[in-house]
Amino acid sequence: MQDQIDRLATLPVPPGRLLIDGIWSDGQDNPLPVHSPIDGRLLTTLESASAVDVARAVASARRAFEDGRWAQQSPAQRKAVLQRLADLIDKHALELAVLGVRDNGTEISMALKAEPASAAQTFRWYAEAIDKVYGEIAPTAPNVLALIHREPVGVVAAIVPWNFPLMIGAWKLAPALAAGNSVVLKPPETASLTLLRLGELALEAGLPPGVLNIVTGPGRSTGEALALSMDVDVLVFTGSGGTGRRLLEYAARSNLKRVYLELGGKSPNVAFADAPDLGAAAKAAASGIFRNAGQVCVAGSRLLVEAAVADDFLTAVTQATAAMTVGNPLSLGTQIGAINSPEQLVRNLGFVDSARAEGNQILTGGGQTRQDSSGWFMEPTIVAGVRPEHRLFREEVFGPILSVTTFTTEAEALSLANATDFGLASGVWTSNLSRAHRMIRGIKAGVVHVNTYGGTDGTVPLGGVRQSGNGHDKSLHAFDKYTDLKTAWIAL
Ligand code: NAD
Repeated sequence: MQDQIDRLATLPVPPGRLLIDGIWSDGQDNPLPVHSPIDGRLLTTLESASAVDVARAVASARRAFEDGRWAQQSPAQRKAVLQRLADLIDKHALELAVLGVRDNGTEISMALKAEPASAAQTFRWYAEAIDKVYGEIAPTAPNVLALIHREPVGVVAAIVPWNFPLMIGAWKLAPALAAGNSVVLKPPETASLTLLRLGELALEAGLPPGVLNIVTGPGRSTGEALALSMDVDVLVFTGSGGTGRRLLEYAARSNLKRVYLELGGKSPNVAFADAPDLGAAAKAAASGIFRNAGQVCVAGSRLLVEAAVADDFLTAVTQATAAMTVGNPLSLGTQIGAINSPEQLVRNLGFVDSARAEGNQILTGGGQTRQDSSGWFMEPTIVAGVRPEHRLFREEVFGPILSVTTFTTEAEALSLANATDFGLASGVWTSNLSRAHRMIRGIKAGVVHVNTYGGTDGTVPLGGVRQSGNGHDKSLHAFDKYTDLKTAWIAL
């Protein structure tokens, strides 16, 4: 497979264009350069959609929705199109994975699973689901028949981040389209290429023109214009808390569109001395933060370890980290790929500086690496002695930095786990069943992993509490975002 990857990696990448009304077109503003994180070289250019381009895309989605070319197809017809799309993603999986890695720097071993494979599964899952979702009849008095319909909301705007654009894009597109909505998708400016290719595949699969529109460009112009639109019904977003705050403001300043936010995390991974296998826990602690160079929303970025076993455990985590190779993301042997942008690399290194300034101890890493590649890489970094008042405990890095804090009692572990504004993911390692359930109940987060870190599939919801956001991607619960309930109250 490495030969095929190497060959695909030499192919020229055509300039990205906008998909509006089923037609690929140029934007009004100057195109943006796309540099590869692997070597800093210019890969291609992207169109930058202006407010006028965005308005055209929203109008196209609105027309497509109102004339029923998709919404009025039977669920079985929509299912067939989305299944064809899933098949096309599978057929082009390696090409999509390589294109994505050249664009965003994720190691290919992870990209293969997390991007095309997961996107295909997601489209297939919602395609399969949509002709099995029923409405309801309410238990009213006998002189009334009350029906509860589920209707598509209309025009959905989806704004996604750069870490797993295809996977996260599919989490939003698949249920939105399956439910009959039209969509305007705004990919991240540093990782748009796979989503543009997805647009081509969607047309090939038979999705009618205008049902999926794609506008690329910077968040502060293209994204802002989309979020301020007066004709978008629902805005779904995955990204940072700062952008999430702005989107709520834009909704308030425009048409009060519903806004669903999947934001960042500072997820605790709690290792008790009674863990069934501390060696396995140490390995999972390392891979739970360092895969995709820590650019994972659910990364276990705060390791909380019981003081009695902390020295041995940290030695094991450091050894597991040393066994992970930071390397060319296109090599199948690499476990830790590139940092997505030079700005993100500088930001990560700034966290190491503040950790030093606050008296934390750098156990391993801390610096940039592979400078000879001209790409953007950072050593996996473990920082001990981090307390709740320190920056590394409180702020999301979104990079390969693990913060370590010790505790002595279960109550202290729980209090440290919850000493954060976020609530996305978490992990608990213990053989004590009662303790595991107490921690599951006590931790404020969307998911608690027990004796593993990071496992998931399409059957379970993903979402955060507190400042990690609202609403859920994945599972049947995702339909709640893309459907409205309508009551029919019929006197008999
Ligand atoms: P970001 O907020 O900078 O950008 C995300 C998207 O928003 C991009 O498409 C960007 O162009 C757009 N955007 C930026 N400013 C905008 C504005 N003013 N108006 C409209 N759109 C705007 O986030 P990022 O750096 O791309 O992604 C990293 C963040 O995403 C991290 O915080 C990470 O935790 C989070 N994330 C969360 C999940 C989850 O499921 N909860 C998953 C992956 C990533």
